[in-house]
Amino acid sequence: MSQPSPLVLIVEDEPQMRRFLRTALEVQDFRVVEAETAKAGLVAATAHNPEVILLDLGLPDGDGIDLARRVREWSRVPIIVISARGREADKVAVLDAGADDYLTKPFGVNELLARIRVALRHTVHAASPRGEPILEVGPLRMDLSRREVTVSGRDVHLTPIEYRLLAFLAQNAGKVLTHRQILKEVWGPGSVDEVQYLRVFMAQLRRKIEADPARPILLQTEPGVGYRMREG
Ligand code: CA
Repeated sequence: MSQPSPLVLIVEDEPQMRRFLRTALEVQDFRVVEAETAKAGLVAATAHNPEVILLDLGLPDGDGIDLARRVREWSRVPIIVISARGREADKVAVLDAGADDYLTKPFGVNELLARIRVALRHTVHAASPRGEPILEVGPLRMDLSRREVTVSGRDVHLTPIEYRLLAFLAQNAGKVLTHRQILKEVWGPGSVDEVQYLRVFMAQLRRKIEADPARPILLQTEPGVGYRMREG
């Protein structure tokens, strides 16, 4: 028996957007459930237990940020936010409320599928009892058991903070991480507003691991939001 295909819940009030998402997903053999309001979205999330939620931020009866927070009270289901361009503050708020990633309208089918693939992969990893000791992203290889880092086979020497920062990004490869999420993980909850630390350390890391630190390939900046390690 093959596994049933993953179920995606779409919470979106625009009919054209719902149609676009449903078509794109069904072609790829995903199952789809739709909700048009925040309230219906919460009910559907509880009733259907989806594998992924695609969440619009501007809903007629409330905002997606609140819905993401409510869902996070009981579920780790990946939430990918669909938001309008130029709403960086909303993106940051919803990611900090527990959403996993975002897509900015308009976006293409390939971008949508890539985000869903990353989200599903991170769920599988989170469910496994122990993490992977070896992380490989393009030319970068991290051996977490030996605390060794190489780029294209060349040893890279990192300070303890640089190492923690890189490991956190690599463990979340493909996924956006907000400034606050990174600062909390690497420096601790007292440092979540120290974005300047992060900029300094990211610049140092890029000098050590990127072929051209001015044009980073591995450590991408998400303007106004945070950073993303390239996927795979
Ligand atoms: Ca909307």
